[in-house]
Amino acid sequence: MRSTIPDFPLTTQHILWRATTLFGKKEIVTRREKGVRRYTYADFGVRVARLANALRRLGVESGDRVGTFAFNNDRHLELYFAVSSMGAVLHTLNVRLFPKHLEYIINDAEDKVIFFDPPLLPVLGALAGKMPTVKHFVAMADGPVPSGPLEPLASYEDVLAAEPTTFAWPALHESDAAAMCYTSGTTGQPKGVVYSHRSTFLHAMGEVIKGGIGPEEDDVILPVVPMFHAMGWGLPYSATLQGATQVLPDRYLDPASLVDLINTERVTFTAGVPTVWLALLQYLDKTGVTMPSLRAIVCGGAAVPEALMRGMERHGLKMIHAWGMTETSPLGTVSSPKSYLRTGPEDELRLRLRQGIPAPTVEMRLVELGTDRLLPWDGKSVGELEVRGPWIAGAYYKDADPERFTKDGWLRTGDVCNIDPEGYVQIVDRTKDLVKSGGEWISSVEVESAIMGHPKVLEAAVIGVSHPKWQERPVAYVVPKPEFKGNVSQEEILGFLAPKMAKWWLPDEVRFIDEMPKTSVGKFDKKVLRAQARALETPSE
Ligand code: AMP
Repeated sequence: MRSTIPDFPLTTQHILWRATTLFGKKEIVTRREKGVRRYTYADFGVRVARLANALRRLGVESGDRVGTFAFNNDRHLELYFAVSSMGAVLHTLNVRLFPKHLEYIINDAEDKVIFFDPPLLPVLGALAGKMPTVKHFVAMADGPVPSGPLEPLASYEDVLAAEPTTFAWPALHESDAAAMCYTSGTTGQPKGVVYSHRSTFLHAMGEVIKGGIGPEEDDVILPVVPMFHAMGWGLPYSATLQGATQVLPDRYLDPASLVDLINTERVTFTAGVPTVWLALLQYLDKTGVTMPSLRAIVCGGAAVPEALMRGMERHGLKMIHAWGMTETSPLGTVSSPKSYLRTGPEDELRLRLRQGIPAPTVEMRLVELGTDRLLPWDGKSVGELEVRGPWIAGAYYKDADPERFTKDGWLRTGDVCNIDPEGYVQIVDRTKDLVKSGGEWISSVEVESAIMGHPKVLEAAVIGVSHPKWQERPVAYVVPKPEFKGNVSQEEILGFLAPKMAKWWLPDEVRFIDEMPKTSVGKFDKKVLRAQARALETPSE
């Protein structure tokens, strides 16, 4: 028997309709070099319609890829909705990629038009002549079009000004592609993930519920996570679906600028990787500035160090820990303690330091490394996390790397974890980052998190270096806080760690560095550290 409810398509068009029709007076605010630019969702709707008309005029047809090379700003948000809602595919390009990866991605996706922020012209311009599928470049400039080697080049505002203020949105199928994003390519070539309208819509619904990361209508949301990193963690969609006020920081991401924007716009909800929050915490500690409007800081992309979560709590700031990947849209798990587990602040903190339980509709299982045997959720057994669900990729674009997907429909995440009996995941490492010492695993994540608890330490990363007897031993790379540079020793760090972990987990060496190498999405880049590391000359017994 068929249901009497039709399959109403779940698309970005509905998110756009909802925000512009029901929340027309709410605001979208973008930080500029001086001050901010602000307009309403009603204005936004008109500009999105103009942009969709402009895309048509530029020759963009259903299914064509439209690249964006931009920071977090209102024009980028307009592209998020105009491109997908007119039937084309939004392709967010990571502005920090190496040129060779950028060139590969643009050509692999066959982008037809690329919109870019003018300060990024030198990076994109360096690829002039190497992007044969790109028929138009559009500079998202306030003033005149910058001069440079990209052709043909138009100005965003000129292109919009000539267009009508309404657009006849076409009927879309919910399984049509809405957007695509490439993995950050730390190993091998980046791989494309193609999101559908349905997956994007359901993901937005999954975020807005309590137990998701929970942006609400009365929130003022400032995404620090770039809109090119795993679709800005879905916030452009979920914040718009809620009709929440959005405050977009553009390229002004240093702690002082962020704190200033948060306080002047009374931001309540923000999101980003730990690196950003480590720097912000350091700034708060130093200046004593407070951020009274902020109710939640979503943190993911890498494990939240305990010292960071405790440090933010000292300033009255609550962190929501979440885990995800480009392949998972990206929300996978959220660390919101179940009601009956909120038995006291310490218990709650311990749970919030874990990556959490799956968001509704996401399923997970734990698989033994090197076999396909399922492992129990006992909080001890360590294996690879596999996930599936309506917003989890089942393949990469052009079928790249098919091994990452099991025959029975699960994504092999490459993340190593244990799961406790309540379903709380604790990521202990990436499969490729685990340190294997004498046949036993050491969790680099746990050791580095412990080191970052030392009061003189700003950032720490642990890698395995080869060892004649133990195969691998851990070595720690540590960036001291600026005021302790040259005034912290290996003995101090190891003495601090000793009571916290098994002796054989202690790094053989602590190497102090001035700056932590970071990936294009702001995570510690262990590939660079490994390249720097030499095998230990004096083996420990
Ligand atoms: P990306 O696709 O760039 O977002 O990277 C995804 C990877 O980041 C995951 O597979 C994890 O290894 C890591 N990751 C994301 N969130 C967390 C988290 N909360 N804790 C630990 N690792 C994380």
